[in-house]
Amino acid sequence: MAVPGRCAPTGRFAPSPTGPLHFGSLIAAVGSYCLARRTGGRWLVRIEDLDAPREVPGAADDILRTLETLGLCWDGDVLRQSLRHEAYHEALGRLRDRGLLYDCACSRREILASAPHPGEEGPVYPGTCRSGLPAGRLPRAVRIRVPDRVVEFDDGVFGRCGQNLASAVGDFVLRRADGVFAYQLAVVVDDAASGVDQVVRGADLLGSTPRQIFLLESLGLPVPAYWHLPLALHADGSKISKRHGEGDDPLRHGGDLVRRALEWLGQELPGELRAAPSAELLAWGGAFFDAARIPKKTQIVVDSAGK
Ligand code: GLU
Repeated sequence: MAVPGRCAPTGRFAPSPTGPLHFGSLIAAVGSYCLARRTGGRWLVRIEDLDAPREVPGAADDILRTLETLGLCWDGDVLRQSLRHEAYHEALGRLRDRGLLYDCACSRREILASAPHPGEEGPVYPGTCRSGLPAGRLPRAVRIRVPDRVVEFDDGVFGRCGQNLASAVGDFVLRRADGVFAYQLAVVVDDAASGVDQVVRGADLLGSTPRQIFLLESLGLPVPAYWHLPLALHADGSKISKRHGEGDDPLRHGGDLVRRALEWLGQELPGELRAAPSAELLAWGGAFFDAARIPKKTQIVVDSAGK
């Protein structure tokens, strides 16, 4: 394994503390961990606790304990977004100096009313405040002007992907009306600050990647490589967001969970590892994980037991 340092590949797992680690989020943890280790790199953990109202008390510590229990050992200190406001503020300042930002007075309801046809990522902002706030209106959110061009990238799973930011999302919010910095801004500032060059995460974020690449380019920051993994869905189409009973308890069934995550990612485990503990499975993944085997699907349904 390469000696960790500035030039070592760097992956990360960036959970939002909205509940305990469950099978759906474990897939991203195992995928990012194995790819980082397989390439001789570092693996970092970042708690995405920007949005205090959505945070579940105790969830961040619970997630970290579960990672440790499973043998998903991270390098360095855990980064917490709630302590990074200065860095986000500074990045906003740089974008503002480049003339890319503007204040927006529109409420969600106004945007929905003026943009009834959603784009690929929800309602497209119609640009109401682009050339100045309408008379008598007060600033609420801060938006960035997007170019009318396709932002393209090569995804390690899905191949060439692209999105026209103007028609798919429009000028997007970097600081919300309640003062909270947007996920899109925080993620690029943090990935760059930590030297992350491998972003491995759920395919629900495939549509956010062009916005993030545009932000990285606008800030003069390096663009990482991306791998988007198939999401685990319930039969009714909802995303797995909780643990499901006994079989999902990482303390008692850690090996089973990690094995299922590796199999989910298309890996063919040697027969003798079928009942191995999680640390052994992760050691195998760190040596043999093959990203080319990850299914090229944005989502896969698991049965109601979360299996
Ligand atoms: N915090 C996000 C989540 O839990 C992941 C963000 C990312 O990996 O870029 O879904």
